[in-house]
Amino acid sequence: MLQSPARHVHFIDNRAVPAAGGESLPVVDPSDGSTFAQIARGDARDIDAAVRAARRAFDGETGEAAAGVWGRTSAVERGRLLHRWSDLVLAHQEELATLESRDTGKPISQARADAVALARYFEFYAGAADKLHGQTLPYQHGYTVLTVREPHGVTGHIVPWNYPMQIFGRTVGGALAAGNACVVKPAEDACLSLLRAAELAAEAGFPPGVLNIVTGLGAEAGQALGEHPGIDHISFTGSTGTGRRVAAAAAARHCPVTLELGGKSPQLVFADADLDAALPVLVGAIIQNAGQTCSAGSRVLVEASVHDRLLERLAERFSALRAGPAMADLDLGPLVSRRQLARVREFLDGGRTSGVRVAAQGRVADDVPAAGFYQAPVLFDEVPADNALFQEEVFGPVLAVASFRDEAHALALANGTPYGLVAGVWTRDGARQMRLARSLRAGQVFVNNYGAGGGVELPFGGVGHSGYGREKGFEALYGFTTLKTIAVRHG
Ligand code: NAD
Repeated sequence: MLQSPARHVHFIDNRAVPAAGGESLPVVDPSDGSTFAQIARGDARDIDAAVRAARRAFDGETGEAAAGVWGRTSAVERGRLLHRWSDLVLAHQEELATLESRDTGKPISQARADAVALARYFEFYAGAADKLHGQTLPYQHGYTVLTVREPHGVTGHIVPWNYPMQIFGRTVGGALAAGNACVVKPAEDACLSLLRAAELAAEAGFPPGVLNIVTGLGAEAGQALGEHPGIDHISFTGSTGTGRRVAAAAAARHCPVTLELGGKSPQLVFADADLDAALPVLVGAIIQNAGQTCSAGSRVLVEASVHDRLLERLAERFSALRAGPAMADLDLGPLVSRRQLARVREFLDGGRTSGVRVAAQGRVADDVPAAGFYQAPVLFDEVPADNALFQEEVFGPVLAVASFRDEAHALALANGTPYGLVAGVWTRDGARQMRLARSLRAGQVFVNNYGAGGGVELPFGGVGHSGYGREKGFEALYGFTTLKTIAVRHG
């Protein structure tokens, strides 16, 4: 059964399933503030139904391990299914992008790129599924010892609203390739593209129960997923505070967790850097998705001798930036919700009242709907290291610039927050590139680039308050499996 365009329900066992409690939540268009659809308000009962469906797919009706339809599926078959799903996503790129763009407010061209990335994740993990293998290990005479990588079983996936398709693709793609059955809880602010993508999974041939989606509030459906005893592994992407709560709930039953949390990622610009190359990347890294990106380059640290030159050029670019409705496809769209807009404005007010100088500001286009959640991009200069704009994740189009004296000072500033997700280094000095790459506290370091074009192949994740565990690339497959050692004594 297909979802109706305006009333969306859960996707369990390859079927559209209404909420057990019969309640729904409004879906708001950030571009004009209107409610244009409803989603099911899931609770513990719906999560339980989804976990049972996934367990049946993985374990089989009788519950013996790895005996269900999905548990018996070969790696090559899982890869073929992912390939078919990837093709279907590409064939429905415009539909998926339109859904996500309206749901999140992101400019349509960015949503189109996210749909392509979703297909690319499935393509990558389709190819990887039958290349994941264990080893044989040297041991004593008379033994053969081997390791095998086995799926956890049923994996839970809690997804945020900023990049629903991309984050769903990287977490579910890896988990399915490794042979798990999945239960997904998307963010209440952005579910629609994922519900449609799940229908395409069924069309691709994934058996019932292998991929289930329950929508609802974090405190209800999300919490219930984190606590459910039938979940064998949790992949959480979202805020640092919620990640801590999810990890605590999982720890109570020794369930492994991957946490992909926030960031306050720095880009370090040295006097010898190619400023022409750096400039569009510095701006793009904070403007993409209106700054609502975990890996946003939200701090620019610049060597004092080129500070004025860089700032002038950054200010020129910021002044030219325009925010507008998702379909107008300007530099940035609205923020995702009224709540997010209020949060960003609180940071802006805090910055101004603490005396930090606004060096430039973009504009909201003249004709935007008054009820939309628009925020013009803001560039702050010489932000002190103890200011909230330097330390905390704003998750909006707000860039903090600070200058440094030398390499040691740059490193101290860069590593001077509790986060450690991504860092960028701009310099022509090869030795410095490598020194900093090794000493920056981050899960990814980019030298003379930033973000590496999405990099489906590149392991991603953080240290410190940015989380632990890795997704993307082949590395994710290790996280979505458990390693078993088998020692056979044969004499
Ligand atoms: P959030 O933590 O509020 O929500 C994330 C998800 O968790 C949502 O699906 C939400 O419903 C759910 N949730 C909320 N409370 C829960 C609970 N008690 N138990 C279980 N689930 C619960 O974050 P958000 O506002 O949706 O997203 C913004 C944050 O996510 C930012 O801090 C951003 O940096 C981070 N983020 C990180 C990455 C990454 O890969 N590191 C990617 C995207 C977003």
